[in-house]
Amino acid sequence: MSNIESQDQEAYRDSIATVDDRGGRIWIYPKKPSGKYYNLRTWVSWILLGLLVGIPFLKYKGDPLFLFNILERKFILFGVVFTPQDMHLFALAMITLMLFIVLFTVVFGRLFCGWVCPQTIFMEMVFRKIEYWIEGDANQQRKLNNAPWTSKKFLKKTLKHAIFFLIAIAIANVFLSYIIGIDQVKQIVTDPIAMHVGGFVAMLVFSALFYGVFAFFREQVCIAVCPYGRLQGVLLVKNSIVVIYDWIRGEPRGKIRKKKKQDTLTALPIADEPAPLGDCVDCNLCVKVCPTGIDIRHGTQLECVNCTACMDACDEVMVKVGREKGLIRYDSHENIEQGRFKIFTGRVLGYTGVLIALIAIQAFLFSTRSEVETLFLRTPGMLFQEVDDQYVSNLYNYQVVNKRSRPITNIEFRLVTDGGRLKMVGIVQDVEKMSTVKGSLFVEMERDKLEGRKTPIKLEVYSNGELIDDAKTIFMGPIK
Ligand code: SF4
Ligand code: SF4
Repeated sequence: MSNIESQDQEAYRDSIATVDDRGGRIWIYPKKPSGKYYNLRTWVSWILLGLLVGIPFLKYKGDPLFLFNILERKFILFGVVFTPQDMHLFALAMITLMLFIVLFTVVFGRLFCGWVCPQTIFMEMVFRKIEYWIEGDANQQRKLNNAPWTSKKFLKKTLKHAIFFLIAIAIANVFLSYIIGIDQVKQIVTDPIAMHVGGFVAMLVFSALFYGVFAFFREQVCIAVCPYGRLQGVLLVKNSIVVIYDWIRGEPRGKIRKKKKQDTLTALPIADEPAPLGDCVDCNLCVKVCPTGIDIRHGTQLECVNCTACMDACDEVMVKVGREKGLIRYDSHENIEQGRFKIFTGRVLGYTGVLIALIAIQAFLFSTRSEVETLFLRTPGMLFQEVDDQYVSNLYNYQVVNKRSRPITNIEFRLVTDGGRLKMVGIVQDVEKMSTVKGSLFVEMERDKLEGRKTPIKLEVYSNGELIDDAKTIFMGPIK
């Protein structure tokens, strides 16, 4: 534990910067950040926002590149369609993703929160920028909120919230386009409301939700709601790279003192000269810019979203006082305390091994995954029927699942196993893209070709004469 952690432990551990003694909300007015990291994050944010908005418009073979249609249980990742039959692949992909998140966090801390998380990007790079533009920097915002209602205040607040709500509507539309697809969103937007009441209500609810989050709830999402944030306590290790204050260099902190007189004979400081101070000049700028209201000098805290605002602020101060930049920087606790920078710890190597194994399994399952899935199941409750002296028949229910983005037409089943024939019940329908067709058929087998009570048989599925799938099942016959 660092010196600074032990100093103010009681005070900072027992309170939350955004909650007062009576449990009320303390509104955070972070000072407008500026600097190298903020500029870089702004560029990264614009690129990510462009991708977020642009991706729903991208199509592959007529389908969206990504779709997460929970309602209809249709998922598309990089143009690959996942149906309910692929749930094992999807579940494995989720486990792999979870493990990747764990591994990434162990090594790079909350880099994701500061640079990639949509909540941080929208809050800090969109809504907060608009707020600074309309209401000014932190002090002006505080003054405006405490001032009585005047026409100027009314105008500013109305303008800000109107823009906020419009952006929230836009975000809701983007969000919905990942769930139901951009084409359907376009229809909801352009058709009369009566034609899509459900979709319209969903849009309104999401818009209100996003507006509420970005206009009022804000940093509370990261502090109190986000499960990833809550997991930091178990994910971070001493070697994780986080935004951290170098307490060895910074402490003891204190305002810059004027130089005391030196002993004229020895040129040494006079006896009552206080101990030399660290590099932190206790200007509190790192606290003032923090969007979650914390003091990073207390050490790594759950509330820190690694937004880098305090790094920029402190660097600016260090330049002004002529000291080396990086008093608050990306670094690990271990490196500051011990001077040891070690990324590949035993834990990281262990996680990496499991991650590689999972990715390999995933790759194998993907490469062997068929775009058409056919099932033949004997009709429940039926055993076998004796057709005549030569043939025994079984009734099967079949199911053809089409995961392709085009229909399957002119389907034909063929029995591969020797000594049998098929009799269809009705006609086999075409299977539309990403849908399923069900039906029934009889398999009739010659008695002398049966192996006993259970005989394995194989069927093939053709579309326009081309083999698209095959399936194995069991034929039931009389005991020999
Ligand atoms: S402590 Fe620094 S990096 Fe963490 S949230 Fe506050 S300003 Fe951002
Ligand atoms: S900005 Fe830097 S110098 Fe100022 S209080 Fe924070 S850590 Fe100390």
